[in-house]
Amino acid sequence: MGADIPAGVEMSRRILEDELGKETVFRDASKLLPDYVPSTLVHRDEEFRQLTRIFRPVLENNASQRALLTGSTGVGKTAISMKFGEELKSAMRGKDLKLDYIHVNCRKDNSIHAVLLKLVHHYNPREPYRGLGPEKLLGDLVTRLRAHDEYLLVTLDELDYFMQLNGPDVLYWLTRAEEERGERNRISVIAIAKSREEFLRLLDAPTQSTFLHNVLPLEKYNARQLTDIVNQRLGDAFRSGSVDPETVEMIADTASRWGDARLALELIWRSGMVADMERCDSVMPEHARQAKAEIYPEIKKEVLQDMKFHEKLLLLAVARRLKISKQAYAMTGEVEKAYAVVCEEHGEAPLKHTQLWEHMQKLGELGLVDVQPSGAGHRGRSMRVSIPEAPVTWIEKEIVKVLGR
Ligand code: ADP
Ligand code: MG
Repeated sequence: MGADIPAGVEMSRRILEDELGKETVFRDASKLLPDYVPSTLVHRDEEFRQLTRIFRPVLENNASQRALLTGSTGVGKTAISMKFGEELKSAMRGKDLKLDYIHVNCRKDNSIHAVLLKLVHHYNPREPYRGLGPEKLLGDLVTRLRAHDEYLLVTLDELDYFMQLNGPDVLYWLTRAEEERGERNRISVIAIAKSREEFLRLLDAPTQSTFLHNVLPLEKYNARQLTDIVNQRLGDAFRSGSVDPETVEMIADTASRWGDARLALELIWRSGMVADMERCDSVMPEHARQAKAEIYPEIKKEVLQDMKFHEKLLLLAVARRLKISKQAYAMTGEVEKAYAVVCEEHGEAPLKHTQLWEHMQKLGELGLVDVQPSGAGHRGRSMRVSIPEAPVTWIEKEIVKVLGR
């Protein structure tokens, strides 16, 4: 460092270099961002096929089509529509039919004017279109499509949100205005909404009927599907081998309660951040617990205080077992051994198996542990236990505190 560098600058450069020099579990964290669309979507083949069937008449007969995609947050509505639009566009490249795709996020472009402006700007980015009403803007778009003999597929994403604000007129403009004038409609629409019923309820009968036969519901993902979705990103987002498979399983389990792929990806991203912060070279279940606690601080200290004495001992045993094993799940046999040790520490006689099991059920009802059949690889009706909602180190500390009273 030269002596002429002011102290403050030198300091910030050192911080910068220090931070950049640190080891990280990530290869490219941006691959986990919500707007990143992976090259293939897993577990959505059938839905993709159905979309293709719905829009086939556009390609073959120059017809205009509408579809409604529904489903809760994180089921891949945005991803599948974007993927479909882009695939369709590139499949048509060099063919007779000219087809373009535009994805509009109606939460961002949240007026009819803004939506139509987005469409005309796609073709004429520099034109200001100041002071023009919907009719003029649409007219401009339609004239252009006609002049170039082009077709357009538009996704109106988050349209339910938009219609709460503005009503359904935008659909009228895009789906019926041309037809009523006796012109061929060159614009096809994918509408996206959370609920089919609430969406349709807001439409007038003629517009409703244009969607009614083409509703495509996306179901919530289950834990296995979410595991596949997260695993698909690992190679791009993380250094190889830096994510423990049980961490993924645990995250998939949590996110499966909502069926939400966005939550699963956010959790693995946050878990990676926690691992980096703790300077660990792999992402472990404990990091996922911390990541979850950041998003959902669900365990309240009062709950811990109000538990029965042996429930506290049992929870402490589960936490200790998980802390030592560094795994996401503990087998009940292992927990019982850990529980016996905890009892001995506190000079208590351990409860019998059935009674202990009732306590375990109670912890489950309180949402403190999650008990599941252990699945393949273990004989009999053995169960496994996890602490999904909070770092086990935190649970251990808090339980020791309440036991101390
Ligand atoms: P929605 O629009 O239904 O809320 P998104 O399409 O935004 O859900 O999906 C949330 C996140 O999950 C995005 O990052 C998306 O790329 C990813 N995702 C959703 N479904 C899949 C899938 N089947 N395969 C791979 N990634 C997916
Ligand atoms: Mg979306």
